[in-house]
Amino acid sequence: MLKTPLSIARLVRHGTTVHGAAECATWTGDGFRRASFAQLGRRAAQLAHGLRGLGVHGDDRVATFMWNDQEHLEAYFAVPSMGAVLHTLNLRLFPEQIVYIANHAEDSVILCDGSVVELLAGVLDQLETVEHVVVCGDGTDLGPLEGKGAQLHRYDELLDGRPESFDWVEGDEDAAAAMCYTSGTTGDPKGVVYSHRSIVLHSMAACMGDAMGLSPRDKALIIVPQFHAMAWGMPYAALMVGCSLVMPERFLQPEPLLAMIEQERPTFAGAVPTIWQGVLTELDAGRGDVSSLREVVVGGSACPPSLMRAFEERHDVRILHAWGMTETSPLGSVARPPAAAEGEEAWRYRATQGRPMSAVECRLVAEDGSVVPWDDEAVGELECRGPWVTAAYHREDDPEKFHDGWLRTGDVGRFTPDGFLTLTDRAKDVIKSGGEWISSVSLENAIMGHPAVAEAAVVGIPDEKWGERPLASVVVREGEDVGPDDLRGYLEDKVARWQLPQLWAFIDEVPKTSVGKFDKKVLRQRFADEELEVRSAG
Ligand code: AMP
Repeated sequence: MLKTPLSIARLVRHGTTVHGAAECATWTGDGFRRASFAQLGRRAAQLAHGLRGLGVHGDDRVATFMWNDQEHLEAYFAVPSMGAVLHTLNLRLFPEQIVYIANHAEDSVILCDGSVVELLAGVLDQLETVEHVVVCGDGTDLGPLEGKGAQLHRYDELLDGRPESFDWVEGDEDAAAAMCYTSGTTGDPKGVVYSHRSIVLHSMAACMGDAMGLSPRDKALIIVPQFHAMAWGMPYAALMVGCSLVMPERFLQPEPLLAMIEQERPTFAGAVPTIWQGVLTELDAGRGDVSSLREVVVGGSACPPSLMRAFEERHDVRILHAWGMTETSPLGSVARPPAAAEGEEAWRYRATQGRPMSAVECRLVAEDGSVVPWDDEAVGELECRGPWVTAAYHREDDPEKFHDGWLRTGDVGRFTPDGFLTLTDRAKDVIKSGGEWISSVSLENAIMGHPAVAEAAVVGIPDEKWGERPLASVVVREGEDVGPDDLRGYLEDKVARWQLPQLWAFIDEVPKTSVGKFDKKVLRQRFADEELEVRSAG
């Protein structure tokens, strides 16, 4: 067979010609602006010329500080295809983390959305390697960015009049194409570098029928940010098969999301569970029409089974549960039940984290280093390897995270004999009580099954007798009234008696990380600082 490199350049050439009629629609607040993939290809070429003009060469890092929108997609197409490295900066991080990441990655150019200019202005003079900032949006005031050590440009002016084709670089398929930092809640964020090969292979896998099954007949609403694990690989997967895209820009609240869904009628969408929880509240109140959606993929944290059921049974939308990490590009496993499973059995499979994607090998390792059997009982830390699983962190020697050529995920769980993974916790969130492990995730799922509960997060707190005991922090739905005894009573036939939480805190909102996961570190701290009003059951 011919050996041709797997490259983003080829992906872009294919997607913008063969699928040139597919579209990207970006929400503006009261409607959409649109461009075809063919137009995006021409604009990507202009952007590449513009960036060359600014001195971008070799594997220079071009960062994006952007929401999900057309220009961000143009950067996805242009930067790796010109041989440079696309670095998607998470604009929701604390300023110190943004500074750390941009300096660590040695970004030379930042492409910035007009709506976040002020955010960037707050850190720009601390970014040691950034020479140019390119701002999208004609009318944006560049004033806040002035005098901070970088040359300023306007995006459209940078593109204006440039040639609409570019001699894309296709060299080494193992070369760096893009990078993304983990949103770790402890320690400094770590950089994961994706190669051209890993991205192309991951895109193919993402499009497989039993993964997202994207096709030219789909229109995907990409809610998960492009700065979070490459929007779960959806932009490149869509480019590969000509799936049109709907981009929400900064409008990520339930109301505008529902307006977008009603107007543009996407068939597919992807977001973390907390986004869908908000959308569900609106739908349950009779607002919104989601009948166009054939399926939505949910991951990033465990999807409560109650959320899946509510969407399917009340609103006829199928939720597909998937697991992954920044380090795994991110798709690792997808929960589609075996063909023969029906009814309750199918639901049980769908609530798991699913079966590993082909090419992603998984194993479970016990604390003593032995490999754990797949018997749906024995629990261990999940380790993975495969062509889109990272082998290292950027400029970071971190032997703790790797084990004989496998990535240590920090997730703890079990496998059924037929290969379905159930994650019971992050290694650091497992509650160790009286020598036994309590899964905080199982407790959360059980509590969130109560109709009056909107959200629940469980953390282990120190206990003299047991070592640790679970503390449940609960957000009660508006207009509902439940106390510790109601909830404990509700759990009695759902979880083992010794696991039942005694201590309950009722809070307004579960604190979240920059990418919408429950931030249990904050809850533990609030408890330690005696900021939580804790009530006891019984
Ligand atoms: P990130 O790199 O920010 O995407 O975070 C990856 C981590 O999110 C994983 O290691 C898991 O702990 C968690 N995660 C992702 N998907 C799921 C899921 N479906 N269920 C439970 N945890 C998940």
